[in-house]
Amino acid sequence: MSCSVKNPMNKIMKKIGITTNVPIEVLIAAGYRPVDLNNIFISDPDPERLIKLAEKDGFPINCCGWIKGIYGVCMEYHIDTVMCVTSGDCSNTEMLMEVLRHKGLKTIPFSYPQEPDETEMQNTLNKLATQLGTTLDKAENVRKQLEPCRKLADRLDELTWQDNKVGGFENHLWLVSASDFNGNHTKYAEEINNVIEDAEKRKAYTENSLRLAYIGVPSVYRKDLYRFLEINGARVVYNEIQRQFAMTQPVASLAKQYSIYTYPYSITNRIEDIQRELENRKIDGIIHYVQAFCYRGIGGIIFKDVFKLPMLTLEGNDNFYLDQHIRTRIEAFIDMIKRNTDR
Ligand code: SF4
Repeated sequence: MSCSVKNPMNKIMKKIGITTNVPIEVLIAAGYRPVDLNNIFISDPDPERLIKLAEKDGFPINCCGWIKGIYGVCMEYHIDTVMCVTSGDCSNTEMLMEVLRHKGLKTIPFSYPQEPDETEMQNTLNKLATQLGTTLDKAENVRKQLEPCRKLADRLDELTWQDNKVGGFENHLWLVSASDFNGNHTKYAEEINNVIEDAEKRKAYTENSLRLAYIGVPSVYRKDLYRFLEINGARVVYNEIQRQFAMTQPVASLAKQYSIYTYPYSITNRIEDIQRELENRKIDGIIHYVQAFCYRGIGGIIFKDVFKLPMLTLEGNDNFYLDQHIRTRIEAFIDMIKRNTDR
């Protein structure tokens, strides 16, 4: 696949930390370089150190690891401006924002509309553009410049579930990185393009490996989880939230793009999206990841009821590798599906 992505700004862009997926097109149009603080946290060589730093500053033990990690990143990586999503992501972010502001950082709150309504989203984006000193027209131009990156992410996703040539972790990594395109979308496009060209020449995974869906927020287990599943004959061919972050569906406007994005809204929107992909991708079983102390875990009650596939719920905290107890549960889960599907 060929790609050509122009850098939309010819001036030096100011770094802005983001606490989750936000309309980065507006930020880029306003001259910012968005960096996803979650991605910095989880790819840090020693993420535990960032959690400890937050706890030393007073974050409670029973606060979600991602919130503490984001705080640690802000302190350690000298981030001075942060866009905090206060509605449509996590209620903990509201207090995190207060603490960051107290520590002298500039914070910009952003709220997704209550409902995924295109008109409301258009108004929200307009308001944000005005607040940041840019216009929605300029942000729409950035959307067009980012389109090739989103198409490449989509191709990589196809290579995962259709062509069976890309593993679950590689899929996770490239899709989750689309929240900020690693701070440089031109480089992202070049790098993912190289991966795609390489993957197209690879031998496909064997047909008899189990096909799993991974739903829920990205895990703290990083590569360990995906690798362990593959060693045991199962492969993640669908990363739900990561695919949402990549926004791979072609759209005609930012208002549309951010209102078909399911993560900030009701679980019903997520269920529709997941159900469709479970069928398309011929999924054998579901891994539902929940983060300790996260309210989103409660949604598992609904997932268990509506999805008619075997589901394993894993809860992670600040343990960045799979322990023996989790490994045993995963092995038992895979064995059970294999027995039931004769593979
Ligand atoms: S995992 Fe849950 S509690 Fe933690 S930051 Fe994300 S939404 Fe908030």
